[in-house]
Order: sequence, then structure tokens, then C-alpha cells
Amino acid sequence: SLNGKVAVITGSNSGIGLGVAEELAKAGATVVLNSFTDRDEDHALAAELAERTEGRAIYIKADMSKADECRALIDQTVERFGSVDIIVNNAGIQHVEGIDTFPTEKWDAIIAINMSSAFHTTAAALPHMRKAGWGRVVNIASAHGLTASPYKSAYVAAKHGVVGMTKVVALETAQEPITANAICPGYVLTPLVESQIPDTMKKYDMDRETVIKQVMLERQPSKEFATTEQIGGTVVFLCSDAATQITGTTISVDGGWTAL
Ligand code: NAD
Repeated sequence: SLNGKVAVITGSNSGIGLGVAEELAKAGATVVLNSFTDRDEDHALAAELAERTEGRAIYIKADMSKADECRALIDQTVERFGSVDIIVNNAGIQHVEGIDTFPTEKWDAIIAINMSSAFHTTAAALPHMRKAGWGRVVNIASAHGLTASPYKSAYVAAKHGVVGMTKVVALETAQEPITANAICPGYVLTPLVESQIPDTMKKYDMDRETVIKQVMLERQPSKEFATTEQIGGTVVFLCSDAATQITGTTISVDGGWTAL
């Protein structure tokens, strides 16, 4: 059980992050939800999660595109709960466009949110994990951290970068009770994926069903989306004693995508 452990999940007011928070809370962890907004509904989400899992959950606003806010998220967690034992770097955005017209500001935002934020939170969290004598860094990369698709230059670059950085964190903590790994999901049906469907329908001149089966799940041999519960379960496994010697690697949850 993860009783007594404190987990921060970046970008967790929706989609995979929220699913991961749910599974960690069910396993007994105190969870910190995060996004860049500071709405009543964000805080209500944490309150509901705490109630449902009979645990502790709070929401902390921090914009993962900003280095100081990434670090402040970790500092505020430690101020509130005394430690940060698990970090799940999950915040991410997407932009789908050919490289020749890909907007520079989209490139910069994707590199910052999908990659650099994991550097800043990890840098801020490691001293606390070392002090506590236990730590888990779990980066939500992607099948696009291992393979590429057209029109996703910034995303593919950022996710490959996250996989590379995960290996470095693992080597720097190899002789300590800390592990660092990346989970590489294939397609999970979340708002992020949902929002790509209209663009992709236009790009390929296809209807919704055809886009889902022939474009999105084209490379996912199972022809099923992965679920947020499955990603959360994989995070919980990486936090378990069975995973103590698993470090510096990737776990694909992609229905066979990267086997092709
Ligand atoms: P989502 O859009 O549902 O969730 C993204 C989360 O990140 C949201 O909570 C959003 O508020 C947050 N976020 C965005 N910008 C932020 C910022 N500047 N600061 C803080 N938080 C911010 O998408 P999702 O599908 O749940 O994606 C979560 C992660 O999983 C991403 O890193 C994504 O690349 C990765 N992923 C998703 C899939 C998939 O098929 N859905 C596949 C592989 C990897």
C-alpha cells in the first residue's frame, strides 16, 4: 500500500492525470492534483477524490510551461504534507501540423510543458526523496517517445526527450532507493485525443469512425484504446516493491503499437 506516500501528478484535472491520481489515491497515497487554472471546480475535484477514496487530496495551481511554477508546485506540496515521494509528470499538450508551417510558439509551449516541466519538477523533488530515503519518478511519455508520426514534430521531439531524461535520472539515482521510468501509452481516449479528431477528419477527409479505426488505431494492433485506469495501474505497479529494480526504462501500454 502507498499509505503515507505523497504523490504529485502534473496536469491532473482531466484525462490520464486524473485517472492516475484516482488509482494512486485508491492505493492509499495522498495526492496533489494540478493544472494551470485555479477554478472552484478544480478544488472540488480534489475534494471529491479525497471523499471517494477516504484519503487526502488537494489541488495546487501551477503552470507547467513556467520553470518557477513547476518548482513551486513541489515546494508547496512539501510545505503542506512534509514530503514528496512520487512525482508523475503527465501535463501535456499537442499540436498537429506540418513542420514547415508549425508555429514557433506551439513548438516552444510543447517543449516546455511536455518535456522541460519534468526536468524542473524532478530537480526540485529529488532532494526531498533523498532525505526521505524513497522516491518514484514516473514520466508519462508516449508511443511517440519511441516512434514517430508525421505532423507531430514538437510532440515527438518532447516525448523522445522525456524518455532520454528518464534514463539519466535513473542513472543518477541508481544506487539510491529511487527509481525513474517512463510509461509510453498508445492511444487513450481523453480530451486531448478527442480534440485531434476534427483536425484529423479534415486532413484525411474521413468520418469520425474511420479516423478512429483507420488513422488513430491504425498502428494499435489491439484496435482498442488504452484506458486511464490502465495507465494509473501501471503507475501504481511502478511504485510497488516488485518494481524496485525497474529503473531507467519504458513500459509501453499501447496494444502492441511498438511491436509492429
Ligand atoms: P488531457 O488534455 O486530458 O490532459 C492534459 C492535462 O494537462 C490536463 O489536466 C491539462 O489541464 C494539463 N495541462 C495542460 N497544459 C498545462 C500547463 N501549462 N500546466 C499544467 N497543466 C497543464 O490529455 P491526456 O490525454 O490525459 O494527456 C496526458 C498526458 O498523457 C500527456 O502528456 C500526453 O502527451 C500523454 N499521452 C496521452 C495519450 C493519449 O492517447 N491520450 C497517449 C500517449 C501519451
